[in-house]
Formats: sequence, C-alpha cells, structure tokens
Amino acid sequence: MSEVPIPITGPTVCATCRAPLGVEEKVGPDETVLTFFHPFLPEGVEPHVPEPVAADSIDAIGVCDFCLAPGPRWTFPAKPFMQETHEQDEVPWASPDTEWAACDDCKADIDDDNYPAVIERHLQRRYRDESRQVRALARVQITPMMRGFAANRTGPAVREY
Ligand SMILES: [Zn+2]
Ligand SMILES: [Zn+2]
Repeated sequence: MSEVPIPITGPTVCATCRAPLGVEEKVGPDETVLTFFHPFLPEGVEPHVPEPVAADSIDAIGVCDFCLAPGPRWTFPAKPFMQETHEQDEVPWASPDTEWAACDDCKADIDDDNYPAVIERHLQRRYRDESRQVRALARVQITPMMRGFAANRTGPAVREY
C-alpha cells in the first residue's frame, strides 16, 4: 500500500512495474488520501510497494479497459460520458477516454452484447482474492460503467495490431 495526498488525477500506473494501479479514496478529517494497490501483477513480477505515477508519464503496459487483461488488440470508440452516482458520497466518474481498449474475449462478448460475461471477467481478474461482499459491491459499481459504455459506444471495434 502506498499513500499520497491528493491531487493525482487521471489513470495511474506503477513506476516500478508499469502495471496500472487501482486506487481507493479515504476522506479523512484533514485531507483526502489516495491509497494505491496493484489489481494484478505482470507475469514474473514479485509483489512490491506501488509507486504511483501518471499513466501518460511513462510507457505503461496496455491493458483491457474492461477486464485488465494485458496486451489488448482492439479499441472501441465511444463518446465521453459521466457515470451516474447512487450514493451521496460517491464521486462522479467520467469515462477516461474516447477509446476503450479491449482484449479478444471482451471484444467478442461486447459484439454479442454479453456484458454480464465482461463484468464476470473483470471481477475474476481484479477481485479474485477478495471476499464475496467486496465482489458484490464491485459488481454494483462496475455495472453502470458498462451500461454507460454500451449507451455511448459509437462504432465497432478497430483492430490495432
Ligand atoms: Zn508495481
Ligand atoms: Zn478484456
């Protein structure tokens, strides 16, 4: 775990292993603290303390925006959108990009409109070791993001390589 005071905005990666980092926001009495963690480690990399840097400042490992699989070959175009929020303390969330990277599996499921399969893959990869409650909460949070993507997608997937 690595804690830094706000502000860091935008996607964050680890300077040590170049993998994308997950972030948890803790609102304290004096300041808001962001805690970064590795949702997954690149193959062969030993566990280590994350060193958060802005994703665009280094050559980050590309991952599927839907399930975090490394090396996605496809991108889907989408209009930027804001995620709806349900809880009062929830921070409105804007889609990071107008291009969503997708791995072969997610691309196939999205083509089939099979978003439940995409969400399952995301939960398996990112929350594999978490409790059932954490996964249930994550499912509640990711579902509107998938709905938002589906509603704002502007065309078919483009093969990048
Ligand atoms: Zn790392
Ligand atoms: Zn994927």
